Amino acid sequence: AIRLSNVCKSYGDYPVLKGIDASVARGEVVVICGPSGSGKSTLIRTVNRLEEINSGSIFFEGQDIHAPMGGRALNRLRSRIGFVFQNFNLFPHLSAVDNVAMSPVRVKGVNPAEAHDKALKLLDRVGLAEKAFSYPGQLSGGQQQRVAIARALAMEPPVMLFDEPTSALDPEMVGEVLNVMKSLAADGMTMMCVTHEMGFARDVADRIWFIDAGEIIEEATPEDFFRNPKHPRAQRFLADLR
Ligand code: ATP
Ligand code: MG
Repeated sequence: AIRLSNVCKSYGDYPVLKGIDASVARGEVVVICGPSGSGKSTLIRTVNRLEEINSGSIFFEGQDIHAPMGGRALNRLRSRIGFVFQNFNLFPHLSAVDNVAMSPVRVKGVNPAEAHDKALKLLDRVGLAEKAFSYPGQLSGGQQQRVAIARALAMEPPVMLFDEPTSALDPEMVGEVLNVMKSLAADGMTMMCVTHEMGFARDVADRIWFIDAGEIIEEATPEDFFRNPKHPRAQRFLADLR
């Protein structure tokens, strides 16, 4: 579904991604982990072109994401790659259901009543049927993040990207968000998840990419990664978590 080929990116003179080669198959769940500042967010943001790259290419279902394109084409592309941020990024002046229904109406031209009905179904799916008419400020962090997931799903993306979706949450709310992500994975969604939740990685990931200083230095199944990390920096990373 996604293929990255020799992706390089620098901020000024400072290289943040140093030749990333990797791919994600359809239906696969990849967890990206690594130390702070290693380039995880930058990497995942290049995949829906929230960040530009300096060289290399990224293909999504055969389309070159970083090819020159106009604003409309870029919006269409982004609508097919759901993105969930650490800090939810909901529209504070819109109710949960309106947050979820907005993009299908605005970007896809879906009929508003239809989008509203579908938004209610999606909120039900993430366990928030009774909060549909609440505003973000009236919701807990875990609830807001579940609305954000429903909002991304409203565009029916074949791929979902997550950048530390639970790291801004109080511990008691982490599980409810991870459970929604687990159920997406079980339904066959293709997912790339930056997360420090190693329990989730162990249970849900098909592959783990360990990134350090802008390079994927280890790519493994969770079984191999947790039982027998090969790279000393991966060994140290795992030791530090314990
Ligand atoms: P964390 O685990 O803390 O979220 P990360 O692995 O997601 O870290 P990135 O946010 O991708 O790391 O940052 C990688 C490097 O790029 C860091 O050294 C960071 O300081 C730098 N960086 C990120 N964004 C910018 C920017 N807009 N301008 C300059 N440098 C940046
Ligand atoms: Mg980050």
